[in-house]
This record gives sequence, structure tokens and C-alpha cells, in this order.
Amino acid sequence: MKNQQLDKRRQDATPRGVGVMCGFYAEKAENATLWDVEGNEYIDFSAGIAVLNTGHRHPKVIAAVERQLQSFTHTAYQVVPYESYVSLAERINERVPVEKPAKTTFFSTGAEAVENAVKIARAYTRRPGIITFCGGFHGRTFMTMALTGKVAPYKIGFGPFPGSVFHAQYPNALHGVSVQDAMDSIERLFKSDIEPTQVAAILLEPVQGEGGFIPAPAEFMQALRTLCDEHGILLIADEVQSGFARTGKLFSMEHHSVKPDLMTMAKSLAGGFPLSGVAGRAEVMDAPGPGGLGGTYAGNPLSVAAAHAVLDVIDEEQLCQRASQLGQHLVEVLTKARETCPHIAEIRAQGSMVAVEFLDPQTGKPSADFTRGVMQRAMKEGLLLLSCGVYGNVIRFLYPLTIPQTQFSKALDILSRALQQEAA
Ligand code: PMP
Repeated sequence: MKNQQLDKRRQDATPRGVGVMCGFYAEKAENATLWDVEGNEYIDFSAGIAVLNTGHRHPKVIAAVERQLQSFTHTAYQVVPYESYVSLAERINERVPVEKPAKTTFFSTGAEAVENAVKIARAYTRRPGIITFCGGFHGRTFMTMALTGKVAPYKIGFGPFPGSVFHAQYPNALHGVSVQDAMDSIERLFKSDIEPTQVAAILLEPVQGEGGFIPAPAEFMQALRTLCDEHGILLIADEVQSGFARTGKLFSMEHHSVKPDLMTMAKSLAGGFPLSGVAGRAEVMDAPGPGGLGGTYAGNPLSVAAAHAVLDVIDEEQLCQRASQLGQHLVEVLTKARETCPHIAEIRAQGSMVAVEFLDPQTGKPSADFTRGVMQRAMKEGLLLLSCGVYGNVIRFLYPLTIPQTQFSKALDILSRALQQEAA
């Protein structure tokens, strides 16, 4: 009853533009478990959209934030700086897979990080153009809406958008886009829209997130790097969703032999507190003049304290290794489920960045209905799943990497049942 009443109040008090997936309201959460206001328990495989690789309220994260609460909560780093910001930048610089020396600066949201990466790239190259990819997602601010390669629901009614943004194809074998097709589409942009000497950056997610958990093939990343080097274009990796151990490495770009010039990060960086960052080659990062970067809350001390704890936890609990193990287990379960669920067209995984894509076995068309059906069945049994994909026909898995093994197995049983029943 409480949930229903709250939902009525929500509808009256808040705009429908903020779409809400669940009809229940959070009361408490711990590691991979979430309880609603009526005491119902859920296994949380959404993790606040990829924010909780270290789980809800990791004790070390909470302790770090509590300690920071006792000293100061805000000074505005640009007015009175603090050591924890500098040392977090140092820690990221050490681990970020860009050519060293590296520098890092912090913001609050993923979109802000992407906006600032674009600012830095333009300041460095003194060029306007940005090439991004169909199906990519980079945020909801104006520049990031323009960069995002999906119209509904993100762009509808919100134009005009900033210019000098061009979309190329992203490789997607299942939907007939090869690496060569994708590279050809960039060459077409150079013919039809913008000369390469006017392009500041090529921006991509090393695993397309909202677009369907599609890892960039190694040869694609290499081809992009070569193209960028040929034309003096920067390569920006948006690791907002793929970062912080999710893919079995601290950053997904570590799976590649080539390095980006700039990287954006957010979400699991601070384990549930708002923090984002841009890291990159020092020379590039230093292009904007003093005062050009920042923001009142950018690098908030509470979030920075949380991020230090997150980095400790990732190392201490070997979460990269755990991401690989959990991902492997999940892929095995999905592969087995495929025997009785012909809707499963593809299982994709980079570590624990796992997705299953559904096509109608009769028509071969993307099946959003089937996807919704599986999610609803799982939800009824207490497993919270998220979808993604340009056609809404992909389930993505974002469980905390700290999830206890027994709870993980229980969740996979629910998932297998949901797949089997929906296919029956
Ligand atoms: N980039 C990527 C790859 C993302 O997945 C997201 C969020 N889903 C964003 C940027 C935007 O982040 P935020 O919602 O924190 O602005």
C-alpha cells in the first residue's frame, strides 16, 4: 500500500520526463540487497545503473565518508583546495591507461565529464569537430545529447543541439555492421561533412553501454587509433559505465593494445556518491586556461573520500578478478539457458559487463516484449534487472562485484527460470 500511495504522490509532484522503472520505493540497501518501503527484498542487479561495483554502502566507503563529514564537507576546490583531491588524481594518473605523464580533474556527473573532455580536446587541437557513434550514450546535457547516438527518448523535443557533432556507425556483428563498415562510415563523414583537419576528437565507449553492452572489437580500436594519429585527432574513451573493475580490468581500455588520449569516468568511481573525472595526457589536459575548468561542486570532498575507499576495496577484494569469475559463471548459465530459449540471439561479455540480446526466433527481429517479459518475471521473484540496446531488446547485468556467491547463484536460478518460462 505504501508503494502505491508514494507512486500517486510521485505522479502528482514530479514530471513524467523522469521515467521511473520500479513501482516500489527504496527504504534500505546493503551490498547487493535492496529493501522497499513495504519490506520486500530484491537482489539488485541494476546497482544504481552501474554505480555500485563495490555494492550498496560498502563499510569502507561509508567509514571514509563519515570521517570526511567530521572535518569539512565543502570548500569549493577552486577556492580552497584539499589534499584528498590531489592524491585521488595521483592515484588515477598512476592507473589510467593513457600515455604518461597523466593528469586528472574531477566533476560530479558523467555528462559533465564528457562535456569537459570535449572542451579540453577542442582547446588542445583548436578544432571544432567531434565524431561519435550511432547507439552511443554520453548524457543528457546539451552537448552530450548531441553526442548521444539515439533519438528516442533522449533527444525528442529538445533541439536544436550544438553543431560540429557527427555520428559514424559502431561495429555490431549481430546487426550486420562490420569493423570495415564502421571505418568506411568515418571516411564518408570526411567526404560529406567535415575535413579530418577540423576534427578535434573521436569519442567512443569501449563497451557501448546503454546501446547494448557491445564491446569495441580490438581491430576497430586499433584502426581508430591509427586514423586519429594520421590526422592529429584525439581519441577519447568514455568509461563512465565500463570503468572500475566491471570489465575485469580497472578500465575497459586496458583490454586494448592502444591508448586513448583522454578518458572520462564516473558512476562506480565513488561507490554511490556523485563524482566524475576526466583523465588524460598531461599536455592535452593542460590546454584549457586557468578558470576554464571546474565547477562549484566539482570534486566534492565527500565523494572524493568515497572514491579513495572504492580504489582500496577494488584492490583488497580483487574485484577485477572477481568480475571475470562472476562474468564467466553468468555466461555459462546464459549459454545453458539458450538450449530452451531460442530468443537468445547473442551473449556478450567483457568480464562482468555481460548482456543477452533477444531476437524473435520466427522473424529475427529485435524482441523488446520478450525482454520486458523476462524482466517482469525476474522482478516478481525479487531480481532487479536492467535493459538496454537501441531496440530495448537487451538485458544487461550490473550486479555489485562484491555480491556473495550464494546470492549470485540464487539470482542466476531466478534468471534461468524467467528465461525458460517466458520462452515456453
Ligand atoms: N557516458 C556513459 C557511457 C554513460 O553510460 C552515462 C550514463 N548512463 C553517461 C555518460 C552520463 O552519465 P550521467 O548520467 O552521470 O550524467
